[in-house]
Amino acid sequence: MAYTLTMKFGGTSVGDEAAIRQVIEIVGQNHRPPARRTVVVVSALSGTTDRLLEGGWSAGAGEAGRAAEVSDEVRRAHQCLIDALAGDEAAALTGEIGAQLDRYRATCERIRSLGDPTPQLLDEAVGTGERMSARLVAAALRQAGVRASAYDSDGFIVTDDRFQNATPDMKPTRAKLRRALGPVLNRGEVPVVTGYIGATEAGVPTTLGRGGSDYSASIVGACLETDEVWIWTDVDGVMSADPRLVADAHSIPFISYGEVAELAYFGAKVLHPRCIRPVVERRIPLRVKNTFNPSHPGTLIGPDGHRNGGLKAVSAIPHVSLITVEGNGMLGVPGIAARTFGAVARTGTNVLLISQASSEQSICFTVPQEQAAVAAEALRDEFKIELERADIDQVSVKEGATIVTLVGEGMLNRPGIAGAIFTATGQAGINVIAIAQGSSDCGISLVVEGARGNEAVRVIHAAALERSVPVRSEVPLEVSADER
Ligand code: ADP
Ligand code: ASP
Ligand code: MG
Repeated sequence: MAYTLTMKFGGTSVGDEAAIRQVIEIVGQNHRPPARRTVVVVSALSGTTDRLLEGGWSAGAGEAGRAAEVSDEVRRAHQCLIDALAGDEAAALTGEIGAQLDRYRATCERIRSLGDPTPQLLDEAVGTGERMSARLVAAALRQAGVRASAYDSDGFIVTDDRFQNATPDMKPTRAKLRRALGPVLNRGEVPVVTGYIGATEAGVPTTLGRGGSDYSASIVGACLETDEVWIWTDVDGVMSADPRLVADAHSIPFISYGEVAELAYFGAKVLHPRCIRPVVERRIPLRVKNTFNPSHPGTLIGPDGHRNGGLKAVSAIPHVSLITVEGNGMLGVPGIAARTFGAVARTGTNVLLISQASSEQSICFTVPQEQAAVAAEALRDEFKIELERADIDQVSVKEGATIVTLVGEGMLNRPGIAGAIFTATGQAGINVIAIAQGSSDCGISLVVEGARGNEAVRVIHAAALERSVPVRSEVPLEVSADER
């Protein structure tokens, strides 16, 4: 039986010549058809998606020139890599990438004439980054002697029409993916698939949300039933905190699907929050590894349970607002919570966290800062009568907060964790505005002043995680067959 790996390479892993040479090395070492087969999923070159989006927004604001500038900058960045890596395919690839960027500019022109950067047109524009990187990486692999070809995933990842944050419909996606890529794998070739992008059933391009290439990889891995999905990035796996924030953060050898989903949901950028679901359903192990340090084992992500235990990591979501609905007249009145969250949901606002109040006199929850005003307005409207009668005293918004989350399976059964966190934040003089325990039994979240958010991450890491550095030899890196 062939052993098939899906390998996703993020933006920095394809960001320059040295990085792409690493990718070639990694794929070349793994790909030994028919015994070992490889599916590659790629992000856009680092910084490209931000630039392409900026061009689209500027076009929407009536500025025609910026999209052209972006197109030139992006063209130059790709041309350097084409010259270095594409060998005798360079001329053809220059032409293909030029054609992609011409389409990008045409889309930006449509945005400009409409005067509105609609999510639909932005998705059409921004997918250009992955279309270019997939072609580049496939050519570089071929030049290094690995049989490879590029595939645009809008041909097989079928999504809903929630542009900028689309969700795949797994049934048609699975059928189309298997039809498109099954024969490629059987021929011993490496398909190099665009991350991030999909299309509606009618063929309109969509994207899976920022950082969505991780999600693409897990969709591809699940649909093709590959043996594992490896996410190659620029750090040694999932770490106990964002290493840019906490200098002594350590790599975690094993973390469960549930824990890593909680961590990603609560702000750890290393994985897209929704990328866990497709692999959980098929119990496919996920690994996070460092393209620039490939011999490091990185992190294995697998089923929850016995091999686990212990606190794992701390993460943060900055720029959130805390909304509170409060008043004595709410006490014992049924339906207030349903009306609160109903009103907020109708505005399309994403409720990140609900804080458990010990009394029934207030409901408190956290939303992204930019959605707070709309949500609060909807609540004042919903509770107009109650506010007039003073049953509800006020709907208040506290801006500029940060959610800090500590993750570890089984933590709700372990006394003292909340105490340790409060002691640590208290000693640092950081005021905890709200607290919530995740329903999944693997996370506890605090809301703190945004200005103290990074410091809160550091003191909680120092108090809860620094002494829990796992002993690597205790953790086997293979997932045994009976655990799958
Ligand atoms: P890629 O382009 O490979 O998808 P990302 O920038 O999206 O990479 O994600 C990797 C980055 O996530 C790391 O460089 C790191 O700064 C950040 N990060 C945040 N939290 C964590 C964490 N807990 N573990 C590892 N990396 C983290
Ligand atoms: N290129 C996309 C982004 O920057 C997707 C990804 O990198 O995962 O968001
Ligand atoms: Mg990413």
